[in-house]
Amino acid sequence: MTTLDRDVVIIGAGPSGLTAAYELRKAGKTVAVLEARDRVGGRTWSQNMDGATIEIGGQWISPDQTGLYSLIEELGIETFERYKEGKSVYIAEDGTRTVYEGEDFPVGEATIAEMNKLIAEMDRLTAEVNPDAPWEHPQAAELDMVSFHHWLRTISNDEAACNNIGLFIAGGMLTKPAHTFSALQALLMSSSAGSFSNLVDEDFILDRRMVGTMQGVSIAVAKRLGEDVYLNNPVLKLDWSEEGVTAYGAGVTVNAKKVVIAVPPNLYSRISYNPPLPRRQHVTHQHQSMGLVIKVHAVYSTPFWREEGLSGTCFGPNSIVQEVYDNTYHGESTGTLVGFISDVNADAMFELSEAERKETILKGIAEFLGDKALTPEVFYLSDFGSEEWTRGAYATSYDLGGLFRFGPDQNKNVGPIYFSSSDLAGEGYQHVDGAVRMGRRTAARIVAAVDGTDYDVNYDGVVSKFAAAQEQNA
Ligand SMILES: Cc1cc2nc3c(=O)[nH]c(=O)nc-3n(C[C@H](O)[C@H](O)[C@H](O)COP(=O)(O)OP(=O)(O)OC[C@H]3O[C@@H](n4cnc5c(N)ncnc54)[C@H](O)[C@@H]3O)c2cc1C
Repeated sequence: MTTLDRDVVIIGAGPSGLTAAYELRKAGKTVAVLEARDRVGGRTWSQNMDGATIEIGGQWISPDQTGLYSLIEELGIETFERYKEGKSVYIAEDGTRTVYEGEDFPVGEATIAEMNKLIAEMDRLTAEVNPDAPWEHPQAAELDMVSFHHWLRTISNDEAACNNIGLFIAGGMLTKPAHTFSALQALLMSSSAGSFSNLVDEDFILDRRMVGTMQGVSIAVAKRLGEDVYLNNPVLKLDWSEEGVTAYGAGVTVNAKKVVIAVPPNLYSRISYNPPLPRRQHVTHQHQSMGLVIKVHAVYSTPFWREEGLSGTCFGPNSIVQEVYDNTYHGESTGTLVGFISDVNADAMFELSEAERKETILKGIAEFLGDKALTPEVFYLSDFGSEEWTRGAYATSYDLGGLFRFGPDQNKNVGPIYFSSSDLAGEGYQHVDGAVRMGRRTAARIVAAVDGTDYDVNYDGVVSKFAAAQEQNA
């Protein structure tokens, strides 16, 4: 067992923990990062399978994600655009397949009008919601009492419009059924992306990818931290007092002034705290749970859909595979599709045998793009739900009423213990951008606490869009 003395110990080498460590090092603090897995990157993870680059976890970046953009600029990492040329495919509730162009789903004028009404209402409210403090909105309490599913239906009685709009946040983002989270939680999701219109625009929200993959960002930061990153060191025990902490990894023990817990909130209780955390944290952490989505990759010898004038973008709010995109990696001649199977559809897939699951999913993709989709050269199903150090995907969110009740405390430190996660972020919530912003914020707060200086409110290096908009409106 190695024992180290450091200013700060960081638990978790995902993008948030690594960014925190990197910023702390830049500020002259000594750090050690203890990571449970045998790799860095957490929910970002890539592998090469039979010559195709597969991003198993997080991969896309949108233009508003300036926290992550500023980090990759510093690291010298380039991005490339997702393939977006050609027409999209939509499958309606009755199974009708339509090839279409433009932003609107091919659903009939009345439903389009209802969808636009819902989008306008979401945009109006989103502009009033501060992503860093959604609980401060004047109607926060009532918005957190009603499920997103029911709230949509108070505005529109067009079932197809409600389902289509619900999909963007339920299946598409929080990966929970829309009846399990509140309208306020949905508004946090849209305000984290600047507007609901941004969120429903796949060309915006799924704009670009990293050359060298999203996990490459964590690998590049870890390289700069060198020997201060300790893999295969799950921390299951933490002693703490106002004077400092001792974190016990599998082979490394670290005594430090402060600790950054940079694991997803659903895993906070994996660690045994001595003395126990205060009641407020015990209760709060039980109301944050992971969604569930399966991300499936199918690699073909060529991107055959492109030859047919299709972009590979497909939506089916009532289909097993609700979203499909062309996910061919930069410079590869093979064609890769990625499909997402969310929440209850994902549950259903795990009731099947492996062979049946593969067949059902490929049939789902073929309903959009034809029979050629049935026979990929590589098929890879990523299941973060079975990963001990994540337990779901993409991220955690609160249950009904939880965001208003517990949100105001989620970012408070408990003595020397600080929490940092994309799942606690405002801008970039549930995204790598939010992980980076939270890493910087946490580092800035710790530096101020250790040095007795003022906390830098521009912690994440970029101006808050919400604050800027408020100022302009004033
Ligand atoms: C399938 C999938 C697709 C996604 N798509 C996108 C996308 O396209 N774009 C995007 O921006 N985001 C996406 N995300 C979300 C993004 O990956 C996360 O928001 C981001 O990785 C969170 O970073 P983090 O550092 O907060 O947490 P994590 O990445 O979860 O890192 C936490 C780390 O802590 C470690 N850990 C856990 N417990 C312990 C312990 N007790 N001791 C030591 N270490 C521990 C874990 O092993 C992990 O390495 C996706 C996520 C998934 C799962």
